[in-house]
Amino acid sequence: MQTEELIRQADENIMGTYKRFPVVLVKGSGMKVWDSTGKEYLDMVAGIAVCSLGHSHPTVVAAIKEQLDKLTHVSNLYYTEPQIRLAKLLTDNSFADEVFFCNSGAEANEAAIKLARKYAHDHLGGDKYELLTMRNSFHGRTLATIAATGQEKFHKGFEPLTEGFRHVPFNDPAALEEAITDETCGVMLEPIQGEGGVVIPDDNYLREVRMLCDKKGILMILDEVQVGMGRTGTLFAYEQSGIKPDILTLAKALGNGFPVGAMLAADKIASAFTPGAHASTFGGNPLAMAAALATLETILKTGILENCRRMGVYFLKKLEEIKGRHPAITAVRGRGLMVALELGHSGEEIVNRCLKRGLLINCTNGNILRFLPPLITGREDIDRAVEIFDEAMCEK
Ligand code: PLP
Repeated sequence: MQTEELIRQADENIMGTYKRFPVVLVKGSGMKVWDSTGKEYLDMVAGIAVCSLGHSHPTVVAAIKEQLDKLTHVSNLYYTEPQIRLAKLLTDNSFADEVFFCNSGAEANEAAIKLARKYAHDHLGGDKYELLTMRNSFHGRTLATIAATGQEKFHKGFEPLTEGFRHVPFNDPAALEEAITDETCGVMLEPIQGEGGVVIPDDNYLREVRMLCDKKGILMILDEVQVGMGRTGTLFAYEQSGIKPDILTLAKALGNGFPVGAMLAADKIASAFTPGAHASTFGGNPLAMAAALATLETILKTGILENCRRMGVYFLKKLEEIKGRHPAITAVRGRGLMVALELGHSGEEIVNRCLKRGLLINCTNGNILRFLPPLITGREDIDRAVEIFDEAMCEK
């Protein structure tokens, strides 16, 4: 089918929840994707921080194929080996003792919210149910996670919002302390705000949040859906602050593109989930577990985290170099391969110009351009991306 006809049919039959670019992507390999006309793109979006090992990574593809031939799905009423092995690898390599598997970031956060409320109900006494979340945050699109999300544009038209969430300024421990009441059971936040525009808090911030949570006897929940699985240069972003959360959520890069989410917790808290308290038909599905197991093993066994750290520094240096030539660039920032540029005007046109030239980048919050490439990115990829971006900025 011709590209125009495919797009016409899509517009007719798919709900308009996304404003899409007029390309139909058909193939991906490593750093690149191709569209239905055969045009090649350097992918610095990677499914928005999803395909961290690159497209069609051979180890992940082989693991999914092998599992597909063995067992595709059974109910969680039975044990399956890939689920057991992934839970062990995740807990061996994190603060957590137990894992709940689901299918997306929003679901992982829903599970975290439910676990926090259940733990508070069972152990903290009184009427503790409220979670404090951050202004400018993003936690998903379900009814509870939009209420947790501290951006009004995601609430409009969906009121009444789910009760039990209050938003406080990000990177402001004093405001957080002041907001904690007898009803508060926990604090939920992203270590770096992704959709909010790659907002990086002060180095001490997570430590101060941890200390406050300990002082008040409430839970610290980290949403690492976007920053987890190596994106910021360590397997989990929290490792860089020397603290441990009580609950942590993952999705996006966990399966390198296979839909899978996870909610991790220390066993004292996890034990509040007893049979029947929470569930998901597809959560922990053998195919998803095989994909995630292969992804995590590859991250742990190869030099991907080291590459992410080195290439992140190189990327920022290259962007700083061109910043001087473009007064419209008001800031360059990043951690690992979560890199952003702030523009003094809308970023949409620049993204379109990059697309035309064969580079995929992303715009969030209107004027923040994001580069979230696979963590296998090399210097040549970064050089090429910055060159195309520079040209796009120069176009009149
Ligand atoms: N949490 C964070 C920090 C995210 O960045 C996202 C998605 O962008 C989500 C949650 C929601 O994840 P999903 O789209 O898989 O539901």
